[in-house]
Amino acid sequence: MSASSRDKDKSVNVQVLLRCRPFSEDELRSNAPQVVTCNDFQKEVAVSQTIAGKQIDRVFTFDKVFGPCAKQKDLYEQAIVPIVNEVLEGFNCTIFAYGQTGTGKTHTMEGECRRAKSGPKGQLPVDAGVIPRAVKQIFDALEGQHTEYSVKVTFLELYNEEITDLLAPEELSKISLEDKQKKQLPLMEDGKGGVLVRGLDEEIVTCADEIFSLLERGSSKRRTAETLLNKQSSRSHSLFSITIHIKEATPEGEELIKCGKLNLVDLAGSENISRSGAREGRAREAGEINKSLLTLGRVITALVEHLGHIPYRDSKLTRLLRDSLGGRTKTCIIATVSPSVHCLEETLSTLDYAHRAKNIKNKPEVNQKMMKSTLIKDLYGEIDRLKAEVYA
Ligand code: ADP
Ligand code: MG
Repeated sequence: MSASSRDKDKSVNVQVLLRCRPFSEDELRSNAPQVVTCNDFQKEVAVSQTIAGKQIDRVFTFDKVFGPCAKQKDLYEQAIVPIVNEVLEGFNCTIFAYGQTGTGKTHTMEGECRRAKSGPKGQLPVDAGVIPRAVKQIFDALEGQHTEYSVKVTFLELYNEEITDLLAPEELSKISLEDKQKKQLPLMEDGKGGVLVRGLDEEIVTCADEIFSLLERGSSKRRTAETLLNKQSSRSHSLFSITIHIKEATPEGEELIKCGKLNLVDLAGSENISRSGAREGRAREAGEINKSLLTLGRVITALVEHLGHIPYRDSKLTRLLRDSLGGRTKTCIIATVSPSVHCLEETLSTLDYAHRAKNIKNKPEVNQKMMKSTLIKDLYGEIDRLKAEVYA
């Protein structure tokens, strides 16, 4: 097999899931007709409605479709468990939630993040979303393996092309909003083709419960900012990342370090991009609220149409997640929609967008490094010698 055909074999399409939430109380009160029909746990979703005498009938196919009756557990077990297993194997994986505000992105990604108040230890609330479930799966797997491991997390928010740390110590969250804007963190090239956020808090965690506390702290900070900044969360993106290092012994007695990373992204409301054409003046007035989401769309178009130039560098979101779009990361998009006629236009736009993203191909590679056991032994020997010197 030639090198190029071997490379081709390794490429995988971005996986795209569709989730349609139940009717909200407002939608039920207004007797809004249902326009989205899901073929639950299958691949098809249909949209049909007559508008001004014109019949709309469209069917979209995704990797899996979850309708209003699908629970958090169903989506997680049917679509996310294999992704987290790959992170444990040393792959980098990214899961994006994409959709109009109010369609369930945060519900899907975070849901109920608090620990269950009752029930056996370690049990999650039924409404726990992808993040707490992934954390639990990771620690259940690691704790059962008796290997050496480390787990680190970061949680950031990107608003108006500015990055803030959602895990920064409490005193920082009490400073005025103006000061907070100044505390934005710069994005830097890491010299290896990637980027890093300078000054971002990296918390080392030793059990699932620790992550739940961090998650609560981060999400409540996001909610506080939302009231201060006029619904900021519908215009901001959040990125929660978990990095795992696992040390394993090979049968030959060598030591293998595997490193997997899981990025969980709750994107800004997609209505910001579909309506930005009409409201461009106002959008500009409010700052560059849509730049990252617009660029994400342009990057997807450039990748799908195989254009020579992919505009990753045009926004912070696409710089941060460059590797998840046409790179070495396995990527999954969860598109969220409402079943109601009131959201029809946005729903069709979300479905078109998500359907197009299915054509992006990535070439995932495992991150692992072999370490000679003799080298490790020598290093441990050196550490012991230095300790002895220090305490002598
Ligand atoms: P978004 O983050 O996309 O703006 P939210 O996650 O905040 O939307 O969801 C809006 C509302 O709808 C919330 O009250 C949420 O609990 C509810 N909701 C969303 N998806 C579902 C679902 N699949 N099942 C039950 N309630 C849902
Ligand atoms: Mg949200």
